[in-house]
Amino acid sequence: MINNNGWQVQPWPEATQKAFEAFILGGGGMVVVHAANNSWPEWDAYNRMIGLGGWGNRNEKDGPYVYFNNRGELVRDSSPGRGGAHGPQHEFQITIRNSTHPITRGMPTKWMHTRDELYDRLRGPAENMHVLATTFAAKEKRGTDRHEPMLLTLTYGKGRIFHTPMGHADYSMECVGFIVCLQRGTEWAATGKVTQKVIPEDFPTASQSSKRVFE
Ligand SMILES: [Zn+2]
Repeated sequence: MINNNGWQVQPWPEATQKAFEAFILGGGGMVVVHAANNSWPEWDAYNRMIGLGGWGNRNEKDGPYVYFNNRGELVRDSSPGRGGAHGPQHEFQITIRNSTHPITRGMPTKWMHTRDELYDRLRGPAENMHVLATTFAAKEKRGTDRHEPMLLTLTYGKGRIFHTPMGHADYSMECVGFIVCLQRGTEWAATGKVTQKVIPEDFPTASQSSKRVFE
């Protein structure tokens, strides 16, 4: 699992990059959390694995913006502009866009996430990528008026990648919705299956977030 904080992180040595690429191409799994999608803007294969990224001078050269518009259509938008932004932290509601994927199966279609940075304007190669869930980035929260991807799956060669832009701080990761998505997404990335089928009783509702406070 990668949650490097930011684009300033030093590149891995080339031999390590190549070994990692071979691992994923051959069927390995990767989990990308929050600021991991800021890392390594210059590493082409990594950007293909994460699908969408932000900051580190990412812009239209790196690929389209990907989001749902207000008519519920998935948009790939190649217009120029920065990759990656967020307004002040707040709670936001997740909308599941694909309820048949093993990661999201059985979840309420809408659930409230605890306070977090809402990443918007992410952009990247976005190849072999599925958007499982979005959240609306409201203008009054300095957002985009778009439905921004919050749960993503990708394949790279035979490898599987689960990517969530959620997870800024401990209180963001204490969200029961986040925990369930991370557990299921990690199992899916590792094995291609999800055996954790039960949605826990303390799962958030459409209007009420829910968290398990870390000791
Ligand atoms: Zn953050």
